[in-house]
Amino acid sequence: ASETPEHDVIVIGGGPGGYVAAIKAAQEGLKTACIEKRGALGGTCLNVGCIPSKSLLNNSHIYHQILHDVKNLEGVKLNLTQMMKAKETSVSGLTKGIEYLFKKNGVDYIKGTGTLTGENEIKVNPLDGGEAQTYRAKNIIIATGSEATPFPGLEIDEKRVVTSTGAIALTEVPKKMIVIGGGIIGLEMGSVWSRLGAEVTVVEYLGAIGGPGMDADMAKTMQKILSKQGMKFKLNTKVLGGDVNADDIKIKIEAAKGGKEEQLDADVVLVAIGRRPYTSGLGLENVGIETDERGRIVIDQEYRTKIPHIRVIGDVTFGAMLAHKAEEEGIAAVEYISKGHGHVNYGAIPSVMYTHPEAAWVGQTEQEVKATGKPYNIGSFPFSANSRAKTNLDTEGMVKFITDKETDRILGIHIIGPNAGEMIAEGVLALEYGASSEDIGRTSHAHPTLSEAFKEAAMAAYSKPIHA
Ligand code: FAD
Ligand code: NAD
Repeated sequence: ASETPEHDVIVIGGGPGGYVAAIKAAQEGLKTACIEKRGALGGTCLNVGCIPSKSLLNNSHIYHQILHDVKNLEGVKLNLTQMMKAKETSVSGLTKGIEYLFKKNGVDYIKGTGTLTGENEIKVNPLDGGEAQTYRAKNIIIATGSEATPFPGLEIDEKRVVTSTGAIALTEVPKKMIVIGGGIIGLEMGSVWSRLGAEVTVVEYLGAIGGPGMDADMAKTMQKILSKQGMKFKLNTKVLGGDVNADDIKIKIEAAKGGKEEQLDADVVLVAIGRRPYTSGLGLENVGIETDERGRIVIDQEYRTKIPHIRVIGDVTFGAMLAHKAEEEGIAAVEYISKGHGHVNYGAIPSVMYTHPEAAWVGQTEQEVKATGKPYNIGSFPFSANSRAKTNLDTEGMVKFITDKETDRILGIHIIGPNAGEMIAEGVLALEYGASSEDIGRTSHAHPTLSEAFKEAAMAAYSKPIHA
């Protein structure tokens, strides 16, 4: 292997965590490289995650809305090939955008698989199959992300038994789809195919949908809304296994507590039971870096492994598996390197589920606040009483504030409603600034906007709303 000049920072992985870290490091004046093995920048999020799924969610929503809500249109037909092309156009435009940003900021883009071979040394096997190269770096940032957790006994072929990667690329609408796992991926991808005509059944082990972290009230409301849209739910239900036959797939289920076995059939099964850290081929064992029982690379508060100049960010370590969380960590990790301090407020990372309506939340759930024993207030306001939502004929959902009863400080905000993912930004800022519900209630919100529901829910927490 030949050797190259030393870098100040080498980032392994070009996803939202890694590419943001690389750009930030270059902006800080550090000689930086980013190694990525998939042949495109942007990681899971841009190539097979956030972006393609949101393209399909947006277009399937438009199709569904035209078909079901606009009554006087005839001859509306689905063009799935076109829908997939639109998705690919968004993805390729955005990956090229990151390549441009790398060039603009002077980040060396190394295409290949990086393996740690020493505390300051990475061997790269190039994507094009050329000779392996050894790179040396003063600092290394690992951002290798995550992969879908497989379901034991169900072999993924990404055509009929799929993870989200196959689910964003089906070539026809399945008649029947079973989704194993009622978390965010299950509900987003289930929504896409349900809107396009599939009969979707979600099998969830727990008693609520939405995955870990969703407020119980909100999960119940969301389940009602999605059920009305045609999705079926089997909660408290365990999948025992499945048989993939030539004509269909049979999935055996039973009540989580045990009971009578039942069988469901489908032509496509989506496995969406969570994601796990990805470290295969990374060579952690060569340098003695540890992972925990769930495969997450162990780090301290400054993202350092036990080799202090090797830091780790994003899905491959602790915390929520979210693109914006990985990005925040990318910036903070670089700031620790360049300035000696960095900052991420883990109490104010928003979550958004891009169904229709969207669900979005930040801070604590009501069940978490209740568990602390601290007295609290709830203020909520339904979109059915909001003038803009009524004008848009889009009135499902509500805004819910949870505040400290003594101080009125906001503890959590939970929204189900049109554009909840945009609206939650105001809540995140409020939490960052340590705001009270009265701070929001006394802030003027334009009329007629959906955000008036946000203000009125805040008013409901410390006083009374006007319009409900
Ligand atoms: P990744 O994005 O996984 O990137 C890691 C990169 O490292 C990969 O490109 C991989 O090829 C590369 N790599 C791995 N090992 C090596 C190696 N040894 N050498 C070189 N390269 C390597 N999050 C949101 O916030 N919003 C959403 O709407 C959203 N939607 C999602 C939808 C789906 C279907 C999925 C699957 C995920 C979604 N997520 C969403 C989660 C989001 O994609 C992840 O949290 C995010 O991508 C994590 O970023 P990362 O940089 O840590 O890792
Ligand atoms: P998740 O953790 O959100 O949900 C998995 C669900 O599967 C949980 O409800 C869990 O109880 C259930 N489950 C686990 N094992 C099961 C089993 N054997 N049988 C039935 N149900 C089972 O995971 P996900 O939906 O796969 O998403 C993975 C990650 O990707 C999440 O961390 C999520 O935050 C991220 N993601 C985010 C977005 C977004 O921000 N909009 C979108 C997609 C994915």
